[in-house]
Amino acid sequence: LLQLSVPLNFIGFVYREIRQGLTDIEQMFDLLQVKAEVTDAPDAVALDIGRGAISFKDVHFAYDPARPILNGISFDVPAGKTVAVVGPSGAGKSTLSRLLYRFYDIQSGSISVDGQDIRNVTQKSLRAVIGMVPQDTVLFNDTVAYNIRYGKPAANDTEVKTAAEIAQIAHFIDMLPEGFDTKVGERGLKLSGGEKQRVAIARTVLKAPPILILDEATSALDTTTEREIQAALDVVSQDRTTLVIAHRLSTVIGADEIIVLKSGEIAERGTHSDLLQKNGLYASMWNRQREATQAEEHLKQVREND
Ligand code: ADP
Ligand code: MG
Repeated sequence: LLQLSVPLNFIGFVYREIRQGLTDIEQMFDLLQVKAEVTDAPDAVALDIGRGAISFKDVHFAYDPARPILNGISFDVPAGKTVAVVGPSGAGKSTLSRLLYRFYDIQSGSISVDGQDIRNVTQKSLRAVIGMVPQDTVLFNDTVAYNIRYGKPAANDTEVKTAAEIAQIAHFIDMLPEGFDTKVGERGLKLSGGEKQRVAIARTVLKAPPILILDEATSALDTTTEREIQAALDVVSQDRTTLVIAHRLSTVIGADEIIVLKSGEIAERGTHSDLLQKNGLYASMWNRQREATQAEEHLKQVREND
């Protein structure tokens, strides 16, 4: 417990620091990375990016040497494909995304993008090709337009608007007092979790990176918002190499491969139908979620009939 309290306090500290002004998850990674001392190799070169094929090979990782988190993880996300990672909370799912972004270096094994070990390339060139839609986006204290344009500073107003449309947030923005010029964030208009997430999606649409990392939002969203966000994400991830961390299994049915992570190891892998046939961990997670959804819908019907 003592060992864990240090990094957690530290994250709390950095989080409070950056909440004061700027704030964006990618920037938060940059900020943390300075202190985590992940540095460019002296002979680091710019990543030579093609379509962004990802490969994890026998990856071992621990935040603290005394407590291994990932124990020999191997998987590929072929160029343009989608791989989903599911599994119980604490399994190490978000850690995979942090490692791909090179927030931390691994203890052994390798992570490569288009055949290049990410430790041999500059962090700047690596991060330039990755779009991250995190679970909880924190926005800059600036206008909606600024927050979207951050994905591509040279974008014109039409491009910003189109990105907002694709992210299913344009209609909402038009209704704001000053439209795209409305100030948001801590010192401006407070947006809901789903709205902020769609702003982050719009930003990513504009950035148009070859690689996408999606850490899907979980409970807080109602079904309509969830469906809208899912539709937006489906558009964005088309033809992009996508690593998606999924909480709702209904969103991963179409993934090219689903990896079930448990205690830092791959417990099962395959397509949705492969995994249902196996009748193991995934199948039981699937049945549990389906029952929960049915119960929820039943309750809603009962209330409506009242
Ligand atoms: P998941 O996304 O599957 O819920 P995570 O990858 O976030 O899981 O975390 C995996 C494990 O690593 C958890 O036990 C968590 O407590 C631990 N962990 C996450 N971040 C840190 C950190 N910065 N320092 C120490 N332990 C961490
Ligand atoms: Mg997580």
